[in-house]
Amino acid sequence: METILEKIERDAPDREKIRRAGKILQNGGLVAFPTETVYGLGGDALNPASSRRIYEAKGRPSDNPLIVHICRWEDIYRIADPVPEAAYRLAQAFWPGPLTMILNKRDAVPLETTGGLDTVAVRFPSDPIARALIDAAGGFVAAPSANASGRPSPTVAEYVREDLDGRIDMILDGGEVGIGLESTIVDLTGPEPMILRPGYVTKEMLETVLGSVDVDKTILEKDCKLRPKAPGMRYRHYAPRGVLTVVEGMPEQVAAYIEEKSRAARSRGERVGIIATDESESRYRARSSADSIKSVGSRTDEDAVARSLYRILREFDDEGMTVIYSEAFAQSGLGQAIMNRLLKAAGHRVEKV
Ligand code: AMP
Ligand code: MG
Repeated sequence: METILEKIERDAPDREKIRRAGKILQNGGLVAFPTETVYGLGGDALNPASSRRIYEAKGRPSDNPLIVHICRWEDIYRIADPVPEAAYRLAQAFWPGPLTMILNKRDAVPLETTGGLDTVAVRFPSDPIARALIDAAGGFVAAPSANASGRPSPTVAEYVREDLDGRIDMILDGGEVGIGLESTIVDLTGPEPMILRPGYVTKEMLETVLGSVDVDKTILEKDCKLRPKAPGMRYRHYAPRGVLTVVEGMPEQVAAYIEEKSRAARSRGERVGIIATDESESRYRARSSADSIKSVGSRTDEDAVARSLYRILREFDDEGMTVIYSEAFAQSGLGQAIMNRLLKAAGHRVEKV
């Protein structure tokens, strides 16, 4: 299959291109498109054949459910029942935006889309291209991240092409995404709201609306024996090809430790990459500590860190790094999502110094 690549303006999406992409979705095809979080791989959420094609194109296990994207609040009533008061209040505060809610599903949503579950994940994205496309497709677009299963989520269209060229009908290229990490997932089907995946909308932000919010214990604990409630969190996601280790501690000791380990790895013939910050990058460079040194941004700018993390992991893959060291980040606010993704990429390989 030939994959059509279309450039499209975020602020004023070309109507004709959106119409064509919407038609592809209505006919059961697949279109990758930008959202404010990462690029999504869209199919008609109410068509079981489309959902099967999404799993196939990504090589994704079919018990890992898809998020259904809508472009009008009231459409939630067509796919979820009941819609609790908490959902309404969260939507008022954070939709359109990077928040996904888990609710009980209605029959309209096929089990193929929910990975066999009786619940459905719903999100109303803010990106204008995403919203226009969902509307053109009929209102319900299932869209997991547009990467091949196991690779970092794509933050630019070029990464979608690398993973999915020839496997999907179209890629809408709207430039780099704004956030760079997947949406926050909150489960509203239990006795208390529970975060199943941390994201841009933080626990603190959810608590301003809902009072107290639980966090799925499996998110940050290394040896947790419980099953994550979001099936996708079970899989080793975001895995770089090199062996990634996260180093925690005081900045000075962390840098010294990473330098020592990098040097030792290089003398064994490894190709070593370091994920640094603006604060530490020049130090590693001055001592040529590694084959490749990349800053994710300043520690004081978590938005920048979130936006560059997946790109850097991919670049290290492309450069053939076999060993990667990363500094750790504070686990509050957006840092919780950043560390969640980093620790998963590292298979929870952490050293404390
Ligand atoms: P992705 O869209 O690739 O970022 O992945 C979607 C995430 O949402 C995966 O981790 C899924 O397991 C999770 N998810 C989707 N639907 C549900 C659901 N009904 N219950 C729990 N988690 C879900
Ligand atoms: Mg994903």
